[in-house]
Amino acid sequence: MSSSPMTSQETMYVRRLGEYYGATAYALYPSRSMLGGLPGAGLQSYVNNLAEWLAKGILLSQSLSKILTSVGPLLLPEIRSGIGRKGSKYSLPARILDDLMICRTRAFFTSHRRKYVSRRIADMEDSEKRGESFIKSYLFSRLKSPETEEFNHILRADVKKKYYIVYGDPGMELICEPDAALVIKIYSRILRAIRAIVVEVSDTDSNIILARRHVIPRILLYMAATYLHYGVASAGLYVSLSPKSDPPAVLFIQKRTGGRELTKMLDRVIELLEASQPPAPRGEPPCNHCVYAGICIFRRDHI
Ligand code: SF4
Repeated sequence: MSSSPMTSQETMYVRRLGEYYGATAYALYPSRSMLGGLPGAGLQSYVNNLAEWLAKGILLSQSLSKILTSVGPLLLPEIRSGIGRKGSKYSLPARILDDLMICRTRAFFTSHRRKYVSRRIADMEDSEKRGESFIKSYLFSRLKSPETEEFNHILRADVKKKYYIVYGDPGMELICEPDAALVIKIYSRILRAIRAIVVEVSDTDSNIILARRHVIPRILLYMAATYLHYGVASAGLYVSLSPKSDPPAVLFIQKRTGGRELTKMLDRVIELLEASQPPAPRGEPPCNHCVYAGICIFRRDHI
């Protein structure tokens, strides 16, 4: 894929995938004119091409702009903005929603994280660092539009900014920290609008994210948090750094009933927060890749 100046040629092929845990998902592929451009030679080349394609899509794609202008806010009266209460028992990382999707025992440990110490898992930390580097060193530098209405314009781009939301009677506060959040002025052929996109990047293939669904509720929560913060409706974008990922990126917008599924999960987190003993896991959780494997009595090789 060349680094030639951007043109108005459509860069993204968008395919609606269906409903995924409170969200409607769209697969994003390079359009025909860019097909074959992503793989490149080696991982470095792939990451470069991926960033260039995504930036072109965000700034120019009419297909993406059309979906973004249709996005409404994730309005949940039970969710309000927080301020970041340090050290409170009721202050939890939004990643607890991933834990809850994977294993409720794990979510219990995270909800009592001042009592239970997690272990480090090097490849998870490395994946996070690669995601941050992709955003800062590859994607953001390409998100610059010429001064013409043919292009969408980035009004604001934040990396790892914290947003706080408060939920429920005890006032549980969730710390939302998306890899990036963009506020974009969209110049679609039909509509003008301002929208936000929260971006999550990791090594995991998009099809695994869609099959396990474990990251989707957290992305929805980020969409609610950024809507409360910026006052514009948000979509979620998951980007995989794996050259084998099919599709390379997925866009999420909230389903009309998506908020209800999210609030049910938040109610379950409050139940775990108030519980004194960890519940037994259901099914076959991935214990060998769990940050609490060292302390969990339910770890599968202990049973
Ligand atoms: S070790 Fe297994 S059962 Fe225990 S919290 Fe982790 S994933 Fe769940």
